[in-house]
Amino acid sequence: MEADIARVLYHESTILSRLDELAARITADYREKELTVVAILNGSFIFMADLLRRVPLPLQLDSWSVSSYHGTKTSGTIQFRQTQIADVRGRHVLLLDDILDSGLTLHAIRDRMEKESGAASVRSCVLLRKMVPRTCPVEADYVGFDIPDEFVVGYGLDYNERYRNLPYIGILTEEAIRRNAL
Ligand code: 5GP
Ligand code: MG
Repeated sequence: MEADIARVLYHESTILSRLDELAARITADYREKELTVVAILNGSFIFMADLLRRVPLPLQLDSWSVSSYHGTKTSGTIQFRQTQIADVRGRHVLLLDDILDSGLTLHAIRDRMEKESGAASVRSCVLLRKMVPRTCPVEADYVGFDIPDEFVVGYGLDYNERYRNLPYIGILTEEAIRRNAL
């Protein structure tokens, strides 16, 4: 797996120090509020686990499973894998996603959450934000790192379901992209 990485973008220690800062802001902003964190799976599972262990608040957790990417390109449509959503009426919702790219995913999720859930507020937190024009008008309220327009893997992010368990974030070699293409 290591040999497939052309370049490491963020080492685990760098990610964790940044999570300390994000978690401190989130903890301050949601003190005294009824917080429900909604993690967008699968990509955010490691981010969620590392971030939330740094937020010492009595929060509740839900997760939504969606997909839009195939290989290294967005498919352009969002598929929600579940129909039931947790009861968050009157609660403050913080959406967690691995990466904000075109904005399609976050826009669709925020939209559904705002229309259907009765939440008191909806904000979002992404580990990575690509510096590209958004196709959908959506911004993240908390951002770990701004990255250039490159396809990244690791720390929860996949390429055709591989590499999610790499402890750091990196860029694949051309050879690995070809070998693992569907
Ligand atoms: P968007 O809907 O904003 O275009 O894309 C968001 C979703 O696409 C993310 O939740 C993630 O699953 C996937 N994605 C976008 N860019 C990348 C990337 O560079 N690497 C990986 N592995 N997934 C990405
Ligand atoms: Mg993905």
